[in-house]
Amino acid sequence: MCGIVGYIGNKSAVPILIDGLKRLEYRGYDSAGLAILENGSIMIEKTKGKVQELQELVEESSFSGTAGIAHTRWATHGEPNRKNAHPHLDCNSDIAIVHNGIIENYVALKKYLEDKGHVFKSDTDTEVIAHLIEDDYNGSLFETLAISLAKVEGTYGLAVISKKEPDKIFAARKGSPLIIGKGKKANYIASDVAAILRYTNEIIYLEDGEVAELTCEDISVKSEDNIHVRKKIQQISWSLAMIEKDGFEHFMLKEIHEQKTSLLNTLRGRLNYEEGTARLDGLIKYIEYLKKAQRIILTACGTSWHSALIGEYLIEELAGIPVEVEYASEFRYRSPIINQDDIVFVISQSGETADTLGALHETKRKGGIVLGICNVVGSTIARENNAGVYIHAGPEIGVASTKAFTSQVLVLTMIALMLGRMRNLPLERGREVVKALREIPDLVGEVLKKDEEIKKIADLLAGHNNALYLGRGYNFPVALEGALKLKEISYVHAEGYPAAEMKHGPIALIDTKMPVIVIATKDAIYEKIMSNIAEIKARQGIIVSIITRGDTKIKELSDNYFEVPSTPNFISPIINTIPLQLLAYYVAVKRGCHVDQPRNLAKSVTVE
Ligand code: GLU
Repeated sequence: MCGIVGYIGNKSAVPILIDGLKRLEYRGYDSAGLAILENGSIMIEKTKGKVQELQELVEESSFSGTAGIAHTRWATHGEPNRKNAHPHLDCNSDIAIVHNGIIENYVALKKYLEDKGHVFKSDTDTEVIAHLIEDDYNGSLFETLAISLAKVEGTYGLAVISKKEPDKIFAARKGSPLIIGKGKKANYIASDVAAILRYTNEIIYLEDGEVAELTCEDISVKSEDNIHVRKKIQQISWSLAMIEKDGFEHFMLKEIHEQKTSLLNTLRGRLNYEEGTARLDGLIKYIEYLKKAQRIILTACGTSWHSALIGEYLIEELAGIPVEVEYASEFRYRSPIINQDDIVFVISQSGETADTLGALHETKRKGGIVLGICNVVGSTIARENNAGVYIHAGPEIGVASTKAFTSQVLVLTMIALMLGRMRNLPLERGREVVKALREIPDLVGEVLKKDEEIKKIADLLAGHNNALYLGRGYNFPVALEGALKLKEISYVHAEGYPAAEMKHGPIALIDTKMPVIVIATKDAIYEKIMSNIAEIKARQGIIVSIITRGDTKIKELSDNYFEVPSTPNFISPIINTIPLQLLAYYVAVKRGCHVDQPRNLAKSVTVE
């Protein structure tokens, strides 16, 4: 979603802010801007376009101030144009602010401020904050921020500067991600570590309601109740190399190819063959609750929701505990029933997904236990859950999630195994699962080597504007995920269906122009899926199948196929997802789409 960068130090702020914005471009945005404190004024530059355009504009202006704030916007209120791009100013251009989030009571606040004579220049909700601060200003922006923000309803990550206090920059957050970086004779504000990792790996996480004042040397933080807080500085282990493209044309392709390693990292130190189980240290505090859990609720959004669906199959099969999967956006608003012996898992790559965070809060409000599955260490969900598991997939920059998905599924498999072994799963079966899990990284490596074969299938599909993805059992959610990947990055309309459901409706769509991608690896219902394929064939649909190596029957029925190694059923979602990720990627490239920044999408959806 939107990106925020702030800098105060002894170097020119512009290159640091632009570099930070470029590293946040992956989050998805529609306009960009910055404000620099310079010779007692605030200098502003904005554009509807890319950060590159902003860079060209500021190069012309040659600002040299050493403090400033910058923003990439993902419009929620007011169309994406120059006027609505951040930073926004108060009436006298004394204060500039950049904001991520939504001010829910902005209509009332705007009316109140307009009645007092304030003049608004944009259509955004954000601008009210600049005028509110102007209205409340008491000589200390640090104090005023707390006073003004107490009147605001909604979510915000904010960076603020004022020409009345030119040696400081300010930050505040509630519900939207914001961190502070501590440098040498310089300090930083960012919505994501990627923006400032080049300069520092010493990070302070702001909590909801906190306000911060930064000078070159110091960082002071106050809580919502106006009390000074001593914040812990945390070291981030991610390196700069991890957030760069490393020779790949796109982050997405790099991240697809990283999966052998990322899955190895997800497993590292967590499997115990002797006991036929997994050890997930993050959950140890809640072992007793997990032992007696009567029901598991998995809640998430988008791709993470697909991993949750696979989790349902896994936990029910290996642990025998009933599972419910719910969209976090629905869960949070429908008064869900959470019983004493229920455990809620929230799943989010970024750990900042607003809807998933809402589901976490709703669970806590009802006294339930909420466990997290996140990738980003120190993220809001990771801090606010009762306990959790990191997937350790490493930074995921491509907007379309790939390696985080497979690592989430792997973590869910380990959770299912652990829960199973606490219950009735026999030791021998547990050991078989451990053995199969250990083989995953190599199997994924094998599939990735055949990248070229997928390119050929992509050539076949790239000219079509629709696609159907079918799978059964464990591979039904894989079909959903395959379709979502194609939609997200190539803008081809695609639907995922349980293969047997096809005859209840979607079969009407089948003709010579409809490609059907069928996940048809060998499992207990292999024969059934063969019948589904025959039904498509009879109606001249174009069949692309993902099959188990050596399977000749489905090969014969298919127009094109991709072979994957034979695996136990519960492993197959991870293996079978890889060719579908590559397929979406190559179709998008062929269609000339902007793979890493697909239109209208944002990486971590930090607004509702
Ligand atoms: N609601 C604000 C706007 O539409 C902020 C959007 C964002 O998070 O980028 O300008």
